[in-house]
Amino acid sequence: MSEHWTGGCQCGAVRYELSVRPTNACICHCRMCQKQFGNFFGAFADVNTSDFKLTRGEISYFKSSDDALRGFCRDCGTPIAYKFASQPKISVSIGSLDRHLDMKPQFQYGLESREPWLLEVLSLPGSVTGEGDNGVGDTPERFEKIRLSSKQHPDHDTANWPPRPL
Ligand SMILES: [Zn+2]
Ligand SMILES: [Zn+2]
Repeated sequence: MSEHWTGGCQCGAVRYELSVRPTNACICHCRMCQKQFGNFFGAFADVNTSDFKLTRGEISYFKSSDDALRGFCRDCGTPIAYKFASQPKISVSIGSLDRHLDMKPQFQYGLESREPWLLEVLSLPGSVTGEGDNGVGDTPERFEKIRLSSKQHPDHDTANWPPRPL
């Protein structure tokens, strides 16, 4: 049975669809992925390029080496993909998938660069977004203001984005 997966960037200028379930869900700690994502690791899942289709906008690419193209939205900067020059394969960023919760990583690459305190930070004390004042000015009123004015594309396809005023 064929599957339908969709995804895109934060601002909605780039949207894509996949005709199969992506495989090889993974995270990569290598320094190049850390830079691409501006984070501790990149998170990807693969499809053949023939199973990937852009449905809105274009992906911009930074050619980080002779065999790697790192794709992002030029309007909002969301990392969207990793493309191999030598293989008919594209890895989409798990965070850009609408169904990111269904794409649990099964492997980690680039262990040589894994932050030594990575496991530790997941045990830090924390707060839930919007639940009370967390001491740095993130009041429920501020989160309400953000929610009402959010320009983030929702986790499903839209006919128009941003929505036109009625
Ligand atoms: Zn965007
Ligand atoms: Zn990497």
